[in-house]
Formats: sequence, C-alpha cells, structure tokens
Amino acid sequence: MKNTLNNVEEIAAAHLCMGCGACAGLYPDHVEMVETLEQARRPRCITNVAKQGTIAEQTIKVCPGRQITYPSTENCEQIEETLLDEWGPVLEIWEGHAENHELRFRGSSGGVVNALAHYCIEKGGMQGALHTKARKDIPYLNRSAISTNLEELLEASGSRYAPSSPCDRLYEVESASKPLVFIGKPCDVAAASMAAQSRPELKKNLGLTIGIFCAGVPSVSATFDLMSHLGSTDATDANDLKELRYRGHGWPGEMTVVPNNPEDQKNYASISYAAGWGDILQKKRQWRCHMCADHTGELADISIGDPWYRAIASGEKGSSLVVVRTRRGQRILREAIANGFVSAEKRPLSTLPDSQENLLRVRGAIWGRTITLRALRVPFPRYNGLKLFPVWVKQLSLREKLQSFYGTTLRVVRKRLYRPERWTYFSVRAGVDKGA
Ligand SMILES: Cc1cc2nc3c(=O)[nH]c(=O)nc-3n(C[C@H](O)[C@H](O)[C@H](O)COP(=O)(O)OP(=O)(O)OC[C@H]3O[C@@H](n4cnc5c(N)ncnc54)[C@H](O)[C@@H]3O)c2cc1C
Repeated sequence: MKNTLNNVEEIAAAHLCMGCGACAGLYPDHVEMVETLEQARRPRCITNVAKQGTIAEQTIKVCPGRQITYPSTENCEQIEETLLDEWGPVLEIWEGHAENHELRFRGSSGGVVNALAHYCIEKGGMQGALHTKARKDIPYLNRSAISTNLEELLEASGSRYAPSSPCDRLYEVESASKPLVFIGKPCDVAAASMAAQSRPELKKNLGLTIGIFCAGVPSVSATFDLMSHLGSTDATDANDLKELRYRGHGWPGEMTVVPNNPEDQKNYASISYAAGWGDILQKKRQWRCHMCADHTGELADISIGDPWYRAIASGEKGSSLVVVRTRRGQRILREAIANGFVSAEKRPLSTLPDSQENLLRVRGAIWGRTITLRALRVPFPRYNGLKLFPVWVKQLSLREKLQSFYGTTLRVVRKRLYRPERWTYFSVRAGVDKGA
C-alpha cells in the first residue's frame, strides 16, 4: 500500500475515506460523490485532480478521513476537566424535545436537531439547513438537501442509517447570502469545520453546526439485508417502495418498509431498532468507522444523541440528549427554548458517559488499533489534538487492551486492509437534489 496519498481517490483506496463529501462540496467541478454498494459514498475525480496540484492539496487538507485537527484545549471553557479527553469540550448537558409535535414524533430521539434548525430559520435570521434526507425516487438512498421551512425539515426527520455526504453541498453554503445551519455526523462536521478554517465566506455562513452521535455508517448493502429481512424480494427495486424508515414514529422507533401500493399499506413490515441495528446494519460498517475516535461531534456547536442512561418506558415520547460545546451553541439553544421551539431540562455532565458507554469503549480502543496498523504498515487516520493513550489506559480492561491489538491484526487480514479498498459503483449518481 502507498504511504503518500496524493489525492482523495488514493485516500479512499487506502480505506480512509469517510464519505463526507467535503472534497466534492468544495470542488464540485472536479470531484463528485458516487454511491457504492459495500462502503459508504466515495469520491470520483471527474477531472484529472491528481495533476492539478492545488485542488488535490486542498481536498486532502479538508479530508477528515486522513486527519482531523482539534483546536488546542488550553483555553477551553470545559467545566469538568475529566470529560475533555473522553468527550471533547462540554459546557452543558440538556435533555429535551421539539415543541412541535410532528418534529418530535418523526424525529430519531426527541427531534431537537431539526427543532433547532427550525428556530434558526424562523427567528435566527438563517437561510436554511444543509442536511440529509431520503431520496424521493430511490427511498433507500440518501440525498443532501437544503431545507428552508418546516415542511422540508420534516422530510429529514429521523436518522438514516445509510451512507450520506452532506458536505457535498458546502459550496452552496459558502456562496449563500445568509448563514445556514449545518447538520451531519461527527466526520461531516469535522470536515466542514476544517474547510471553514481556510475559507472565510464558509466560516461566516456556517451559522450553527449540529453533530449527531454516530456509531458508524452501514453500507447500502446492509440496507438491502434489512429490506430482505423485512420481506422485499428484490431489495434493489425501488418501484414498490414508498418509504424506508430507520427511526422515528415513536422512540426509538421501528425500522420499517412502507410499500407504494395503498392496498399493501397494512402489510408494511418492521423490526425493532435494537434488532435492526444490532443484528443487521452494524455488521456492515465501513472500516474507517472502526477507526473513528470522535463519535459525538466534538467540533460542533451542539451535539445530539439518545439519552440511553435510563430505560425508556413503553409508549414514551421521544427525548434527545443535547451536548452544548460552544458559547454560540449555548446561546442558540437558550433562545430556542425561550421562543418555544425546544423544551429541555439541564442534566448533570455525567449523563453523557452514562448514556453512551459503548462509544467511550470504541474511543478507548483507537490508540491500540492505531499502533497495530502502524506496525503492520497499513494506513491509519491521525487525530491531532486528541489524547487517545490516556483513554486507552483508563477505559479498557486488560483483555480489551490486548484485543485492540490482536483484534485489529485479525481485521487487517480478514478485510484485506493491506490491499486497496474495493467497491461496486451504482449506476446512479449520489443524491444531490437541487430541487430541495
Ligand atoms: C449512522 C448513525 C449512527 C448513529 N449512532 C448513534 C449512537 O451511537 N448513539 C446515539 O445516541 N445516537 C446515534 N444515532 C442517532 C442520532 O444520534 C440521532 O439522530 C440524534 O439522537 C438526533 O435525534 P433528533 O430526534 O434530535 O434528530 P432529528 O430531528 O430526527 O434530526 C435528525 C437529523 O440528522 C440528519 N441525519 C439523518 N441521517 C443522517 C446521516 N446518515 N448522515 C448525516 N445526517 C443525518 C437529518 O438530516 C436530520 O437533520 C445515529 C444516527 C446515525 C445516522
């Protein structure tokens, strides 16, 4: 495997691409995102980027797959120092939900992500929100969309446990006349934040960044497994499919296939979120997600996930765990609460580790995994500014520490990480829906 990576296609070949789309979003005339069956989305150079030094350099610079740089935490206003190494900057933790019934009902947890976007559009002087929703023509694939009103925001309610690349429309944020909300997975937010460092217009127009917690992105092939499990005879045929839901319509909601034919409506099939994720989807996550150290969006103004610290009562309405990371995030959350868009109560900082124990263990394993890849001369991502060794020491048992070495060695062999990554392109282009 090559040691020096000269362009985004080479980063992808080295199993490091996360599929965020930042390369395509900053240089849409040179790079496009395509759907793959086995991985997430992948960049395809449509001009000879390798030969265009500056573009190749710039796309590499903003790529979170290769490296993410976290700002110095010396002057960070962290309340509790111990959280910093494990969860990044945390000013406050809240638990709450969207005041709008539909946003809450259709949302993944409590609909707070889109409720905040709604506030920013209605009262915060922002133009819209760049985020991810299902494609209308092929509902099992995602598209990046800019929503400008409640109806459009509702189309994006609920997590899509399938590849997405919201950064592939960053050029529209950069050239917008007013700021926008950016919503994405931690890697998407990292890419947008890194791109903003060298692009003043983009920085100015990222009015609020919201990161959703993420344990890794399942491939489209995983979604086909889910649909087959739910009875689709030919999962790739989208003709009979009206909707594919992974979350929402209750909390945490069921993974549900809704057929197109109104006569079949009663026969739609579903599986619990826990079984759909645990038994099917999570088995097919791209390798780069296993090397992810930031599952909670540490570069975002606000990060949002599920408050799993407590058992959910049957029929309970949705609730979101809200991590405030910056003063801007703090101000906007307070305004959204004061203006009746979000209802929330403050929680102790310990609610975060209590809610996401599994994410902490994965972060703990990254140091051991990185050392192993380095020793085996397999490409690995860099996290400048994160202290991963102390988390490995503190959070993993001896068995888990050893596993971070030998488990990674086994994966290198099984997944053939010493060879260039392989994938099958779909004939459809990744969903960049200009109409939304
Ligand atoms: C792949 C994946 C893994 C997840 N892992 C965890 C986890 O480990 N722990 C946990 O607590 N929660 C996890 N979640 C759920 C996520 O944290 C919830 O979206 C969050 O609780 C916000 O809920 P909400 O009701 O406030 O959001 P909503 O109001 O429903 O809004 C959801 C927002 O997320 C955006 N979005 C949906 N899917 C994607 C996607 N694939 N890529 C980028 N943006 C997207 C939508 O555009 C929308 O704006 C995961 C979600 C995904 C997609």
